[in-house]
Amino acid sequence: MDIGLKEWQELLKGSLKIASALESLRIPLEEPLLTKNQFKKFKKCANTFVPDANELSNFRRAYPCNMRICPYCKKKQNLTSQYYLLDIINYFKKNISDIRFLTVKLSIKTQKDKIEDNINLLNSSFRHIVSLSRRKALRKKMKEFVNKCYLGYYKTLEVTYNEKDKQYYIILRSVFAIKQNYIYEDRYYVDTNKWKKCFQFELKDNIISDLKIDYTNKNNDITYDFLEEYTKCAFDLTPIMKMEEKKEIVDVLRTYINILHRRHKFVSTGGIFRIN
Ligand SMILES: [Zn+2]
Repeated sequence: MDIGLKEWQELLKGSLKIASALESLRIPLEEPLLTKNQFKKFKKCANTFVPDANELSNFRRAYPCNMRICPYCKKKQNLTSQYYLLDIINYFKKNISDIRFLTVKLSIKTQKDKIEDNINLLNSSFRHIVSLSRRKALRKKMKEFVNKCYLGYYKTLEVTYNEKDKQYYIILRSVFAIKQNYIYEDRYYVDTNKWKKCFQFELKDNIISDLKIDYTNKNNDITYDFLEEYTKCAFDLTPIMKMEEKKEIVDVLRTYINILHRRHKFVSTGGIFRIN
């Protein structure tokens, strides 16, 4: 879970790129985007990323801004979530002998002005599928799964932008703690098609792209590398770090920051993953 020198350098480049894009268009002066103070903090964070004698141990950042549009601080938050999740996983692996982990990932394409509606829709759809109160409404198979195999979930949403088709997507990722009877007993196993049907029913006419379901093996999955992917949340800054067109960069940032102001729920937990 460590970050190499090259990756830190990429994050630094990203920070500086975002700072310069915001600065050139005087975005900080326009509310409700960054306030002058927020921008000052962000720029300070970008500029104090000091690689000292090319040694990782000497990488310092004296003034972390802790903002989600900051590639460096976002990466740090992501690492913290990974460690947190890994701790819980290791704890329950010791205490629940038949525990396994199931990952579910799907995305939907969304129009820019529908991002917020769709964040809410994805959140409520997910809740309907796993929550106790709505079990009655679930199809039989899903109900069996929730009743007999499900132990908890850690779920994130991430808004991303595709530079190729110029569209926004929202990705839902979830790590489920499950009992291994899910895998061994046909009556509990929910295949990809069934998961898709369940989500599609909730998401109505939003077409699901990229549905991926996977589960850990008993012994082969000791590293839990997938947590890096499954703790990503809020906004995907990687397209911005690749984009060249300043106007496009600012446009995407503006979209991200506008959503950020609404304080949506990008991370939620349930069952044994619940954060008190
Ligand atoms: Zn920062």
